[in-house]
Amino acid sequence: MVKELVIASGKGGTGKTSIGAALTALAPAKILADCDVDAANLHLVVGSRLKEAHDFFAGFAPVVDEEACLHCGRCTNLCRFDAIEDGVISRPLACEGCGVCAFNCPAHAISMVDKKAGQWLVSETRHGLLVHAELGLAVDNSGKLVSEVRRQAKSRAEKRRLPLIITDGPPGVGCPAIAALTGASLVLAVTEPSLSGIHDLERLFFLCHHFGVPVAVCINKADISEENTRAIVALSRRERAPVVGEIPYDDVFREAALTGCTVMETGSAALTGEIRRLWLAVAGLLGVEPGKAAAWGLERLIDRLGGRRGMP
Ligand code: SF4
Ligand code: SF4
Repeated sequence: MVKELVIASGKGGTGKTSIGAALTALAPAKILADCDVDAANLHLVVGSRLKEAHDFFAGFAPVVDEEACLHCGRCTNLCRFDAIEDGVISRPLACEGCGVCAFNCPAHAISMVDKKAGQWLVSETRHGLLVHAELGLAVDNSGKLVSEVRRQAKSRAEKRRLPLIITDGPPGVGCPAIAALTGASLVLAVTEPSLSGIHDLERLFFLCHHFGVPVAVCINKADISEENTRAIVALSRRERAPVVGEIPYDDVFREAALTGCTVMETGSAALTGEIRRLWLAVAGLLGVEPGKAAAWGLERLIDRLGGRRGMP
C-alpha cells in the first residue's frame, strides 16, 4: 500500500515547503505532490520539466447564444453578482455559476457549461515525478483541485509500484488543507516557536485528530525561542504527537530557495545532518525504507556519538 506523508503547517511562512523539499531529496522511491494549489512553489526548488498539462473543470459558467438573445434585460435584473448585462457576460470573474440567468431566460439563450478552473500538471524533477497544479484566477474550488492532485499522484505511485507520496500541503486549516490531509498516513506539522506558531499548531492538531490522521511535529527555527520551543514540545506531548525534528534557524533556507535548490544540496553539514535525522524518524513512523542517503546520516550520527570510527 502506498503511504502518504503530508507536510502541513497551520499557516504559511513556517518553512513547510523548504523542509518538505529537503525530505524529497532524501526519500529514495516516491512521487511528489504539491497540494498548495493557490501558490504552488515546490517545483521551483526541485527543478522541474513539464511533461503533462490537463485542464481541470469545476462548477459552471454561462454561455449566451447571441442570435437567440432578445436583449430583454431579465438576466441583468436577476443576477445578484452584476455579472451579466442584457445577454453579455460583462464581468465573468464575478459570475458564481448559479444558473439563475439560464433558468429564467425567456428565449432559452443561455446554457451553463463546465467551467475551466485551472490545470493539473505532471513534471519530472531532480527528486522524482511531481504532480502539481495551477488554480485559475478568482476560482474557489481549490479543495477539488487538491483532491485531483492527490488522486493523480496516488495513481502514478501505484503504477510505478512506489511506496511513498510526499505532499506539500496547503497552509492553514481550511478546505484545501482538509482535502490534502484526510486519509493521509502521516502529517508532518512544521511549526515555529512563536505564539502564533503555537496557536496554529493547536488548530492543526485539532484538525488531524478530528480526521483521525497521525501527526508528528518538526519545529523549524527551534533556536530562536527556547521558551516557545519548550512550550511546543509540551503541547505535542499532551497531543501525543512526537517531535521528530528541531531545525535551527539558518539563512541557507532562503539562499537555497533563491538558487532553486533544496537545503540538502546547499546546506551546512550540521543542518543537513538534522534534516537526515528528521527523515529517519519520519520514515520510521511511516514504515518505509529510509534509503542510503539517510542511512549514511545515521552512520555519521553514530560515529559522532562515539559508536563507530573511520566512516567517510
Ligand atoms: S434574459 Fe435571455 S433573452 Fe433576456 S437579455 Fe438575458 S440572455 Fe437575452
Ligand atoms: S450564472 Fe448566476 S452569477 Fe453567473 S451571470 Fe448567471 S445569474 Fe449571474
